[in-house]
Amino acid sequence: MKQLQSLLHHIDGKGYKAYKSIQGKYEFSKYQLSIDYVQGDPFASPSKIRIIVPNHIRSIKQQWKESKQRKVYTEDCIARAVGEAINKESNQSRGSGKSGLIYIDQPGQEILERTAVQLNQNSTIICLSLGLPANGRRINGREAKKLFLTILPSIINNSILAIKDEKIEASVQLADQHKVIREKMKENGWIAFVADGAVLPRASGISNKPLKKAVTFQSPEENRVEIEVPHRVEPLTGMALRKGINLIVGGGYHGKSTLLEALERGVYHHMKGDGREYVLTDPDAVKIRAEDGRQVNSVNISMFINDLPQGQDTKQFTTENASGSTSQATNVVEAMEIGASTLLIDEDTSATNFMIRDRRMKALVHTKKEPITPFIDRIQQLRDDLSVSTIMVMGGSGDYFDVADEVIMMDQYLPYNVTKQAHDIAKDYPIERQKESEVLSTQSNQRAFLSKSLQVKKGKKKKIQAKGRQNILVGNGTIVLDHVEQLVDPSQTRAIAEIIRHAEEQDMMTQELTLSHFLYLVEKMIEEEGLQAFAPYKNQHPGDLARPRRFELAAAFNRMRGVKVVNK
Ligand code: ADP
Ligand code: MG
Repeated sequence: MKQLQSLLHHIDGKGYKAYKSIQGKYEFSKYQLSIDYVQGDPFASPSKIRIIVPNHIRSIKQQWKESKQRKVYTEDCIARAVGEAINKESNQSRGSGKSGLIYIDQPGQEILERTAVQLNQNSTIICLSLGLPANGRRINGREAKKLFLTILPSIINNSILAIKDEKIEASVQLADQHKVIREKMKENGWIAFVADGAVLPRASGISNKPLKKAVTFQSPEENRVEIEVPHRVEPLTGMALRKGINLIVGGGYHGKSTLLEALERGVYHHMKGDGREYVLTDPDAVKIRAEDGRQVNSVNISMFINDLPQGQDTKQFTTENASGSTSQATNVVEAMEIGASTLLIDEDTSATNFMIRDRRMKALVHTKKEPITPFIDRIQQLRDDLSVSTIMVMGGSGDYFDVADEVIMMDQYLPYNVTKQAHDIAKDYPIERQKESEVLSTQSNQRAFLSKSLQVKKGKKKKIQAKGRQNILVGNGTIVLDHVEQLVDPSQTRAIAEIIRHAEEQDMMTQELTLSHFLYLVEKMIEEEGLQAFAPYKNQHPGDLARPRRFELAAAFNRMRGVKVVNK
């Protein structure tokens, strides 16, 4: 610590580059400070440091990290505490550019595996970013001293050193509850569970926090189940949706999309107080939507689309600019390629001609002239032959009544089971739907991507960089993830960028390896070595990474331009 103090004294007033000399490790009374990376100027992305707190200073009980899930929740709990402590310090500017900025990759409403805080055998590592203070481009050593010797120690004192055991324990208990709910769901073949009392709507279109005056969820009797969970006296009750075809109907503005959005997010776990902490969905559920304009690389969409004009091949469909229906078909096929077991679909974001085609239209445009086999003609085959379930919002058409196993109606934000009525209506007003006689080709879509063909060069340099949640710059191009709705955190996008970088550098993806198998290997690496396995520098601040699912990783590869793909 003395050493850092005299270094800062020494470089005070010098050009910013002199900060490079403080890179290294310093012992403080309660932790070790590791300055891993020093920014080149006050406006560049901030410096990266780690605070390493030994277990004899802040004891971390073995049981808090005895399973991967408990460990993730404990790390999440500490990261939140550090984030709060940072917010309490006046995070004021201390000079030019990013001078004085202190940042931790603070979790949002979801509890994700992330690198911000890492529990090791003997210590807890906290990863921070820091704007080293300057006046213009001159080092402000006095402010730097304040930052390192007063403010950082106070943040550490007020967070990891102050957090009560009970708080961490509550977090660990939530981990246990989520684990048990997931086990019960698997045992019973439930693809979704929404607890009574859950708050589904969000505060606004741009906030992921709960809406204050919401109507809380109440399960319909027919779907009500009870789950005994640990650390709770009363069992949880709520609505379970079974494997199969589940339809959500109801009048406009009655809460259908809100329910589906909660289910989309239910592949992740949410923090206490979110309102969706007991809303869980099949972890392999994938939101499917239309995404016109997207790139498609050699995908077999022939189960939905055939005989396109000009003889375009739909067994290896490739385009720079997909239409609504072809993009939605592609999204279904790509999700199944990676093992999706539930599809989540909202009429609001679907292509109508992909979802339905009515009798009148069939009379006018003969099936022979229509390249699309609508989803309704495949949905039962998906369920029966491929064990793929669907949860679908459809308020505008009753065509799906006869194929649905379960129909839930949202009325004034509350769900009712109307399966029987819907089936009766379907009998009274039969529609002549052409059953697809032809057996669904189980010829699935499996492709290999060649990492050598990834276009990562920008001029002479390589470039792969995440820009917010939605974009990854790769070489001269951009992967656009705007419509990949289950990608929820910018740190997941950063992790995807690092995984692409790693795959390219290590030439991991070859002709022999399908995309799906490659992603399995990635998941195994994360399971065994953590996300740090994909960080560019070992034993340093790994960058702010959070774990993406394999579906969102696949989504990024699938939206890359110029990559070479081999059909298997
Ligand atoms: P739909 O898809 O049926 O047209 P939405 O799900 O889009 O309806 O919901 C319409 C509006 O109602 C949204 O602004 C949403 O935030 C609000 N809303 C949804 N569920 C609830 C609820 N349980 N309590 C209060 N407001 C809700
Ligand atoms: Mg809607």
